[in-house]
Amino acid sequence: MNKVGIGYDIHRLVEGRRLVIGGVAIPFEKGLLGHSDADVLLHAISDAILGAMARGDIGVYFPPDDAAYKDIASQVILEKALSIAAGEGFQLVNIDSVIIAQKPHLSEYYAQMSASVARMTGLQASSVSVKAKTNEGLDAIGRGEAIAAYAVVLMDH
Ligand SMILES: [Zn+2]
Repeated sequence: MNKVGIGYDIHRLVEGRRLVIGGVAIPFEKGLLGHSDADVLLHAISDAILGAMARGDIGVYFPPDDAAYKDIASQVILEKALSIAAGEGFQLVNIDSVIIAQKPHLSEYYAQMSASVARMTGLQASSVSVKAKTNEGLDAIGRGEAIAAYAVVLMDH
């Protein structure tokens, strides 16, 4: 049996933070603000996995107001989502994702992000699609105030 899931996440861009997307550190004057390392792509993927399992979202397992999870690595969140799926006999088949960022330009990092997510999930890089769009200058993302990500996953039993 197959199941699909969708995930979405957004974080504010602020000064004084590292920008880490898909586990890849990207040189930029700002980074994403969050309780964890604010890896917007890993959060969207984790939510997509939990969504496929109808098991809520990452906030259920890692409450943002719980000090125990301050600065938690997003890889840990992703591993938790994968282990919940594995507990129900499901494995990830592939991931498609879109990052919405006005700046920086991310196309030169697609391959690195794909390889990084593939390493964390046990997939081949050919099964991890990472791409990005600007927001055409529109709204908060277009003004460079935030970066968002969408992910869709297919799970197989
Ligand atoms: Zn997040």
